[in-house]
Amino acid sequence: MKVKLEYIWLDGYEPVPNLRSKTKIASFETEPTLEQLPVWNFDGSSTRQADGSDSDCFLNPVALFADPARKSAYLVMCEVLLPDGTPHPSNSRAAIPDDPDAWFGFEQEYFLYRDGAPLGFPKEGFPAPQGEYYTGVGYRNVGDVARQIVDEHIDLCLEAGINLEGINAEVAKGQWEFQIFGKGSKRAADEVWIARYLLLRLCEQYGVDVNFHPKPLGAERDWNGSGMHCNFSTRHMREIGGEAYFKELMAAFSDAREEHIAVYGPDNHLRLTGLHETAAIDEFTHGVAHRGASIRIPHSFVANGYRGYLEDRRPNALGDPYRIAGRIIQTIESVTAKTLIEDAFAA
Ligand code: ADP
Ligand code: MN
Ligand code: MN
Ligand code: MN
Repeated sequence: MKVKLEYIWLDGYEPVPNLRSKTKIASFETEPTLEQLPVWNFDGSSTRQADGSDSDCFLNPVALFADPARKSAYLVMCEVLLPDGTPHPSNSRAAIPDDPDAWFGFEQEYFLYRDGAPLGFPKEGFPAPQGEYYTGVGYRNVGDVARQIVDEHIDLCLEAGINLEGINAEVAKGQWEFQIFGKGSKRAADEVWIARYLLLRLCEQYGVDVNFHPKPLGAERDWNGSGMHCNFSTRHMREIGGEAYFKELMAAFSDAREEHIAVYGPDNHLRLTGLHETAAIDEFTHGVAHRGASIRIPHSFVANGYRGYLEDRRPNALGDPYRIAGRIIQTIESVTAKTLIEDAFAA
């Protein structure tokens, strides 16, 4: 059986990598498994990942999904490796800590753009101010084609095997959100990248671009920016938790504020102004049901004895979910390590 394998990877552009992909035709006796997929190569000098004189980079398959839009086809998420088999410097996935019991829910916001403006914007100027677009219905609020796009995107994700949990129209006209839930930093982030890929590819046929910029209409205007809130929990947070642990965790997040901001997506100073349901970029705050805080604590978290998940509202829509999830695990693990050391001294 001949199948189409779409090898997908992140290129070497800074500060944000682009998705790249190419098709490999391969023969298998039965449905291929991840382990059966060959390592492949590409011209790294065309993706800012190598010099022309020594241009080969390698694609190592790390996650396999069905490709519902094509016949006999698969989507293959890859890590980029150097010729000696070690991770390429651009390979953020290889560098992050993982924990299968760390659960992540990413809320990916984005704008649909056509001819340089959000879908539904008039040729000149702006549509009616924000207010009725969020979760809105009707042509006046969502236009004529966005609903079809986001609906097709749901089906593509579900048929690919991605754990997409929902979509909604967002605060600005032309702005939408999808949510992905995954267990483990790598798996959750793989699914966000593949969901982004499917959306970008789907929109080609509509002459529409996906704009992930965190503040595409500028910081001066009263139009929403795009975030990628990261909801997270570890087994310890879900099953043990407690107010003392929560306080230690928030202290660790506060101490690592700059390290978190560094991987939460570029241009975040335009978005994290402290207005429009965002935190200020230069301070760390948390609060119950507080949408102006860096970390929002769900009511259920306090009601359950400081157990459950927390929402970091600072990551933006351009952020790399590998780096975001990895950094969150790193900060959580620093608390666990500190607690272990203190317990050892106390004993
Ligand atoms: P809101 O828009 O109110 O911030 P959403 O419903 O868009 O909330 O997103 C909430 C996210 O939280 C979902 O992606 C969901 O998967 C995630 N989530 C729920 N429970 C947990 C958990 N225990 N650990 C991590 N993420 C969780
Ligand atoms: Mn949401
Ligand atoms: Mn949202
Ligand atoms: Mn949210």
